Amino acid sequence: MQAHVNDFINKLQEMAPFENAEAYDNVGLLIGHKGRTVTRVLLALDATEEVVDEAVKLQAELIITHHPLFFRGRKNLVEDDPEARVICKMIRNNISLISAHTNLDKSAYSGSMACAELLGLENIRQEGLLFVGELPKSMKTKELLTVIKNKIEPDSRLYGDADKNVSTLAVCGGAYDEGWAEAKALGAQAYLTGEVRHHNAIAAVMDDFVLIDAGHFGTEATLISPLATYLQKWLNDVQYDVTVYASVSDPYGRLG
Ligand SMILES: [Zn+2]
Repeated sequence: MQAHVNDFINKLQEMAPFENAEAYDNVGLLIGHKGRTVTRVLLALDATEEVVDEAVKLQAELIITHHPLFFRGRKNLVEDDPEARVICKMIRNNISLISAHTNLDKSAYSGSMACAELLGLENIRQEGLLFVGELPKSMKTKELLTVIKNKIEPDSRLYGDADKNVSTLAVCGGAYDEGWAEAKALGAQAYLTGEVRHHNAIAAVMDDFVLIDAGHFGTEATLISPLATYLQKWLNDVQYDVTVYASVSDPYGRLG
């Protein structure tokens, strides 16, 4: 059966309702046409030029990203600007773009949930933007850091007491370091997030709490592979003739 862009909008709506997105956000169909046929779809965290090139090469008609474009609004598409160049390239190649951002963060398909599952957390519960669970066994935070470096992001960094025991961990992928106090109040001994700023690291450490920064990309790139698997299974089940690809691009060019 032939799938259309609209089928993906409807599926994502069912998984992570777009109206759950924050007011400042920009989610849903951002480029393209609902009626366009889709045979290949590329999933990525960001619609970078490299990701669009990947889609062109794969002959994908649709890109689904976590982070939206047009985030700050724009009044032109002059190609001196990198984002405008990306948008124009998508339009020229007839590629549609759907973004599922803060609506996805609040769903079971979030990067936070993916991190929690990669770490084998048990009894995972969602409290607002935070996902909290118990580690399979209690360990020192420095041991947890090693696990996180192996499973999530090699460049992860720990703030606070490396010898402290941790059994309950709170996770919020992306950039939400101010969530540490919420994590502590929820009974966690440590908090995994990205983009930890100095003042929040200081405040947390002074309050005898531990923060682990696995980066914005590191904590959210985890959502791509389970999302690709989930969408592919759905497409197979409903017998849509579509292949789902997970982007292999690194937005910082570290793999290049
Ligand atoms: Zn993000």
